[in-house]
Amino acid sequence: MRSLRARIFLILLLVGSVPSIIMEASIVNTYESEAVELRAQSVRNQLMVIANHLVANDFLSDYNAYSPNKKESHEIIEAELDMLASLYEGRVMIIEPNFKVALDTYSISEGRTMISDEVISCFKGDNTYLYDSEHGYIEMTTPIVDTTDDGDSTIQGVMLTSISNSTIQSTIKVLNNIAIAIEILTVILVIIFAFFISGLLTQPFQKITNEIAEVRAGYSNKPISGKGYTETVKIADAFNQVLARMKALDDSREEFVANVSHELKTPMTSIKVLADSLMAQPDVPAELYREFMEDIASEVDRENRIITDLLAMVKMDRTKADMNITTVNINELTEMILKRLRPLARKKDIEVVLNESREIIADVDEVKISLVLSNLVENAIKYNKEHGWVHVTLDADHQFFTVSVEDSGIGIPEDSLPHIYERFYRVDKSHSREIGGTGLGLAITRNAILLHRGSVTVTSEPGVGSNFTIKIPLTYVRNAVADK
Ligand code: ADP
Repeated sequence: MRSLRARIFLILLLVGSVPSIIMEASIVNTYESEAVELRAQSVRNQLMVIANHLVANDFLSDYNAYSPNKKESHEIIEAELDMLASLYEGRVMIIEPNFKVALDTYSISEGRTMISDEVISCFKGDNTYLYDSEHGYIEMTTPIVDTTDDGDSTIQGVMLTSISNSTIQSTIKVLNNIAIAIEILTVILVIIFAFFISGLLTQPFQKITNEIAEVRAGYSNKPISGKGYTETVKIADAFNQVLARMKALDDSREEFVANVSHELKTPMTSIKVLADSLMAQPDVPAELYREFMEDIASEVDRENRIITDLLAMVKMDRTKADMNITTVNINELTEMILKRLRPLARKKDIEVVLNESREIIADVDEVKISLVLSNLVENAIKYNKEHGWVHVTLDADHQFFTVSVEDSGIGIPEDSLPHIYERFYRVDKSHSREIGGTGLGLAITRNAILLHRGSVTVTSEPGVGSNFTIKIPLTYVRNAVADK
C-alpha cells in the first residue's frame, strides 16, 4: 500500500466506479418512486370517475334499499370497479360512513366493518396513499364526494383500494439486472484503465530507479536525466550532485594515495641507492661508511616524519565529531611551544619574540591547537634566513583570539599562496625536503583550525617574509562542528 502506483490505482478505481454505482442505484430508486406515483395517480383518476358515477347513481344511499330500476346502473358500476380491480391486480372496497363495507370486488368483506386510520382520515376529506414496497402493494383511499349545486359537499363513502406493484417490480428487476451488468462492465473497464494509467503515471519514477540501478551496478557513471516530471528531474539533480561529490572524493583519494606512495617511496629509494653503492664497493673506508650511514639514518627519520604527519592527519579526519575540549591558557601554551622550538631557531640565529597584550583563556582542543601553533612557528623558523626573526603576537576580543606568526623569511610566491594548504604541496620541493618538510604541516593546521570553526589567513612577500594569522572562537560550539 506504500506504493505510489497502488495508490493511484485505488484512487482511479474509486473515482471511476463509485459515482457510476451511486448514479445507477439512484436511477433505479427514482424510477421506482416515479412509477408508483404514476400508477397511483392513474388509478386515482379512474376511481374519481367511478366515484362520480356512484354519486350520480345514488349508489350508496340506495345500496341497501335495492330497487330494480337502479339495478342496471349499479351493475355497470360494479363491472367498472371489477375491471379496474382486475386491470391493476387489486381490490376495491366501498365503505359507507358507518364503516360497513358496501362493496368488495373480492366479495369477501361485504357487510363487515372496516375501520382504519386511513379510512377515518379519508372520511375527513383526505386522500391517503401508502406504498408498501416490501409486500408489493399500493393502498389508497379516495372519498366519494357529493357536491350539491350550491357548493356544499358531503362525503358519502370511501373507496379503499389496494393494487399490486408487481409490474413495477418486474420492470425494476430488469432495470436492476441491466444496472448490475453496466456496473460490472464499468468496474472492469475502470480497473483496466486504472491499471494502465497508474503504470503510465509512475513510469518516470520507474525510469529514474532503473537509471540509478545502472549507476549502482557500475554499468554507467554518467549523470542521470530523470526526464518526465519536475519532481523526477529534481531527484536526478540531487542524485547527480551526490554522484559528482563521490567522484570528486574518489579522485582526491586516488590522488592522495598516489602522493602518499610517492612520498614514502622517495626516502626508500635514497636508502636503497646509498646501501647499494656501499655494497658495490669492496673496501669502503670507515669515514665513507659513516657518512652514508648518516644519510641513511636521516632518510629513515624523514620516512618517520611523513608517517607521523600522515597519522596526525588521518586522526584529525577521524575525530571530526570527537573534539577533546578543555579550558586552555593560550599564553602558557604558546610559551611552552616557543621554548621547545627555540633550539631549532638558535641553529640559524633566529630571534623568536612573543608579544602578549592580555591573558587568553579559551575552550579548545589543546593537542590540536598546539599542533597548529608549532607547525606555524616551525615553518616560520624553517623557511627563514640566517639571523632572521619570528614575531608571535597574541590578542583577543570578546569573541575570538588571534595568533599571528610573522617572519623575516623567504616568503611565498603569489601563485603558490592558494595551494599551500594542499596535502604534499611544497613551493620548493627540494628545499623543503632538505629542511625536513613533508608538505602535510599546513594541511593538518588548516584542518585543526576548521574543526574549531576558526580561520587562517596569510600574507607574504617573497624575499621579505610571511605572516600567518589564525582566528579562533574563545568558546567552542559543538553543534556547529557536528553539522559540518
Ligand atoms: P612542509 O612540511 O613542507 O613545511 P607545509 O604544509 O607546512 O609543508 O607547508 C607547505 C609549503 O608552504 C612549504 O613547503 C613552503 O614552501 C611553504 N611555506 C609554509 N610556511 C612558510 C613560511 N612561513 N615562509 C615561506 N614558505 C612557507
